Amino acid sequence: MQKKLALYLHFPFCTKKCNYCNFYSIPYDADLVHKYCSGLRQEIINFPYKNDYKVITIYLGGGSPSLIPFHELVSTINLIREKFYLDKEIEFTLEANPIHVSESKAENWRITGVNRISMGAQSFNDGELSKLGRLHSSTEIGIAANKIKEICCNNISLDLMYGIPGQTMKSWLNSLQKAIKLSPKHISSYCLKLEKETFLAENKAKYNFPDEELERKMYYKMISELQKKDYEQYEISNFGKKSYYSRHNTHIWEGGEYVGLGAAAHSFYKMQRIRNKSDIKSYLNKLKETNNGIDKKRKISTQEFMVDKIMLGLRLNKGISLPKFHAEFGIDLLDKFGEQINKFLKNNYLTIEDERLKFTSKALFISNSILSEFI
Ligand code: SF4
Repeated sequence: MQKKLALYLHFPFCTKKCNYCNFYSIPYDADLVHKYCSGLRQEIINFPYKNDYKVITIYLGGGSPSLIPFHELVSTINLIREKFYLDKEIEFTLEANPIHVSESKAENWRITGVNRISMGAQSFNDGELSKLGRLHSSTEIGIAANKIKEICCNNISLDLMYGIPGQTMKSWLNSLQKAIKLSPKHISSYCLKLEKETFLAENKAKYNFPDEELERKMYYKMISELQKKDYEQYEISNFGKKSYYSRHNTHIWEGGEYVGLGAAAHSFYKMQRIRNKSDIKSYLNKLKETNNGIDKKRKISTQEFMVDKIMLGLRLNKGISLPKFHAEFGIDLLDKFGEQINKFLKNNYLTIEDERLKFTSKALFISNSILSEFI
């Protein structure tokens, strides 16, 4: 039987760097984009794939994949269709920046087979958007979402952010309500983290950030507001209407295999963790020398995989099935991590329901510190 595989393609070009972003991305340059997309196709052609895997999702992330010229997109996706066995019900996501969405682009994405758009909205408050260094206004998010729905697909996910400088509970609620009004099928929402070497981190003193207690309240407010509108929380930061959970990310959180192609992409494939060269120049040079963009490749042990499964599985609201865990690793999870689990069960941060170990609601906001005790 074919195993399931998620495919990720990285497009590291943006119109302008956002003030909070530390992902690898550089300004759009037409010549370099062509060289990069040709390199990506070379990597696809040379990827050692046999028909033992069925690709269930394609995810075009970045950077800003909504900047990919149509001819580059079509030839790259055609190559993927030739090379890989694709599931008939494939989920094909493209990340879009509202400023790049036009009628012709939405039509091109539809023709290419894109059936899910993940759009970086972040906020519906123009002052907050400008502090984040986003180039779009709140009105443009709505215009873009409607174009996508009319022309490309109705499966839209919106990214939202809380913890933005100057953000209040009132403005956060307003952003949530405006997002809901656009009827996206899915909402992802993360707390702004000050990452090193970003504009906001370097100018931290000039801004007034919400404190942790307000961020906590914003997080739980979001859960209750989204639940009222039938968005099911299925992961710490992700909410979907029934049958609109992100299949791509869910596959990864369940410990499934994925292949990342392009500069800075990561893979988990055949029990190996693989990392590609992180900048375009070294990625293209590596391709020239060896026909792949790999920087580091490491076989992981069953023990490491087991810890990964716990770290990822607990992110999901359904948690980890104890009998399945035992069947897969021959180990009782409650014995193996008895000390940590008992402590968190006692504190009411973990619970066991229907033979599944999962976070309680109060643990969700501090999940990272709980998870770090399993490493
Ligand atoms: S559009 Fe996305 S990837 Fe590009 S700079 Fe902004 S946050 Fe980073």
